Amino acid sequence: MLPFSRVSIIGLGLIGSSVARAVKAAMPSVRVTGYDAEAHVRERVRDLGFCDDVADTPGTAVIDADLVVLCVPVGAMGSVGEAIRDDLPAEAIVSDVGSSKQSVAEALAAALPGATIIPAHPVAGTENSGPDAGFATLFQGRWCILTPPADAPEAAVEALQTFWQRLGADVEIMDARHHDLVLAVTSHLPHLIAYTIVGTADDLEEVTQSEVIKYSAGGFRDFTRIAASDPVMWRDVFLNNKDAVLEMLQRFSEDLTALQRAIRYSKGDELEALFSRTRAIRRSIVEQGQDDDAPDFGRKH
Ligand code: NAP
Repeated sequence: MLPFSRVSIIGLGLIGSSVARAVKAAMPSVRVTGYDAEAHVRERVRDLGFCDDVADTPGTAVIDADLVVLCVPVGAMGSVGEAIRDDLPAEAIVSDVGSSKQSVAEALAAALPGATIIPAHPVAGTENSGPDAGFATLFQGRWCILTPPADAPEAAVEALQTFWQRLGADVEIMDARHHDLVLAVTSHLPHLIAYTIVGTADDLEEVTQSEVIKYSAGGFRDFTRIAASDPVMWRDVFLNNKDAVLEMLQRFSEDLTALQRAIRYSKGDELEALFSRTRAIRRSIVEQGQDDDAPDFGRKH
């Protein structure tokens, strides 16, 4: 049995358009209505045809929905909640795909008093944005973390779990605070480090930009992929997961200082021990199917 029959997606960028495409691929009879704040995005989505309907206001997008999925930057969740409040059917479940969960849960609870809200985060994405960037298989074999509030109706959590499983994801249920801490180290900090390294290289005076680009295969280009991620989305992630990111950043700075000392005092054993430990983590990621083991990340040469 299908968990929902009328799904509304607000925000039709990479993730929203991937959810819409995945729903139409996995559950073709489900009616998908989309809405995006940008008129040119709505026009493009009409041309691409992965939504049954594209609404011109957030209210009309949700008017007969049984599931509403908010796929906008995390800083916009509260205002979108307010924009759909008057038209949201009483029995609809509201969810989202935001990369941080505590602040989104608070913003949605304040904007939609009395509504059934089950926040979620599919841990899948690319560095691209917009409706052309999405694809139906994005969530296959990836984790989707649900962070239901303590009083969430069990049937609603189960329905959302089934929904994400139908899209190919494995579902985990987690406390929102714990989610924010885990993702701070596995996603948010790596993005911050990539933004820093690419920014530092760009600021160097004694190394030219053309040299940075020419010799980027030395490791730099893999950071540039992450550092090309959507600026608005990531601005909002850092502003909305401040505490967890700052805590992880503090630990990271201490570990970086320890590495600095190991290099300064030629402690090769310390460096080698750390590098061996980290190589094993990469192997576990490949073994668990979260990446493939093609050399050089599967690049064609
Ligand atoms: P995206 O490609 O930039 O798409 C976001 C879309 O939402 C844009 O078209 C944007 O329009 C629109 N939007 C912004 N504010 C809106 C509003 N108030 N009402 C309606 N539409 C609005 O970004 P994305 O990568 O899909 O990210 C969407 C969400 O998914 C974020 O919360 C992010 O944290 C989460 N997420 C992202 C990834 C990833 O790897 N990208 C992974 C997991 C979760 P504009 O053109 O005006 O900005």
